[in-house]
Amino acid sequence: MIPMVDLKTQYRQIQAEIEQGLHQVLDDAHFILGPNVQAFEREAADYLGTKHAISCASGTDALHLALAAAGIGAGDEVITSPFTFIATAEAICYLGAKPVFVDIDPHTFNLDLNQVEAAITVNTRAILPVHLFGQPVDMPAVMKIAERHGLSVIEDCAQSFGATIEGRQTGAFGSAGCFSFFPSKNLGCFGDGGMVTTHSEALAEKVKVLRNHGSKRQYRHSVIGYNSRLDEIQAVVLRAKLKRISAYNEGRRAAAHLYTRLLTGLPGITPPAEDGKGIHVYHQYTLLTANRDTIMTGLRNAGISSAIYYPIPLHRQEVFAARYRDVSLPVCESVAQRCLSLPIYPELESGQIQTIVEVIKAHAAG
Ligand SMILES: *Cc1c(COP(=O)(O)O)cnc(C)c1O
Repeated sequence: MIPMVDLKTQYRQIQAEIEQGLHQVLDDAHFILGPNVQAFEREAADYLGTKHAISCASGTDALHLALAAAGIGAGDEVITSPFTFIATAEAICYLGAKPVFVDIDPHTFNLDLNQVEAAITVNTRAILPVHLFGQPVDMPAVMKIAERHGLSVIEDCAQSFGATIEGRQTGAFGSAGCFSFFPSKNLGCFGDGGMVTTHSEALAEKVKVLRNHGSKRQYRHSVIGYNSRLDEIQAVVLRAKLKRISAYNEGRRAAAHLYTRLLTGLPGITPPAEDGKGIHVYHQYTLLTANRDTIMTGLRNAGISSAIYYPIPLHRQEVFAARYRDVSLPVCESVAQRCLSLPIYPELESGQIQTIVEVIKAHAAG
């Protein structure tokens, strides 16, 4: 059996260190916003090269809090990708703002930056690029568009911890970067967790206040905030994994490059492309094929997991379908019908990759 992600093997490798940290938390009985959270925020900001990193309860909350702190509100439009997890658009909607979906590039699956400017209106306040599957969006180009039109940029880095472009980390370009520590993400904890990064003191201050009931000092509340904090248990896990994140991402890249080498030239299969501008950290390894159902069945019969990220573009989801009836995003709609994600994780062995490719070979032609 080869799973999509193998968290048990990773845990066994760092079990002693994590358990020691967890026992310390239990002994100290300081559970919320304690010393491990503080240390993790410092360590994460250092790794990512941002002035501030403010942890919170989830990646969804990170997006919500960052957009709120950037002043996004009712009636505002935020340009984003239709090919992403629903949370990207949910966070925009929480604030009464409107997601404006722009089609994707067929090779990187990220926002097609050539189409962004045509979508800007008098109501546009922000661009929310998603570094999908771990491939960084061309952020220098996004920042140029944003500067030309006076827009905020909020990066969805939920799948891209450690990805870089021009030597800078995702989450270090825009007004804010939003990370998720959901267990299966490149940097994951043992539950839900998230983080907002920023260079701006003012934005960091706002996120800190919003995540903790609108409060800077205990029992003084200046705005309506939220309960969205990271706990010490998760911070212990994240500190142990952050130390190893570069190696984890290297392992993912090595696995991806072996897949691509073995799959290149197979009829009916288009391996994922790197755009050559940044370092892709392969949160997912996602190829395109017209024979998706056959290949998935073949893999399942061989005890190999595979998954479809994402089967339905956001503008076609039930929750949005009526509002976006007149919107047509042909590249995204076509990719959603042909995309197939294969198992990928740092501990995936080359023998397993060869086995997976053999099964695909046997079923790719239909
Ligand atoms: C996982 C994910 C989120 C949400 O993160 P949670 O921690 O699950 O709330 C947002 N955007 C993208 C692209 C994601 O993959």
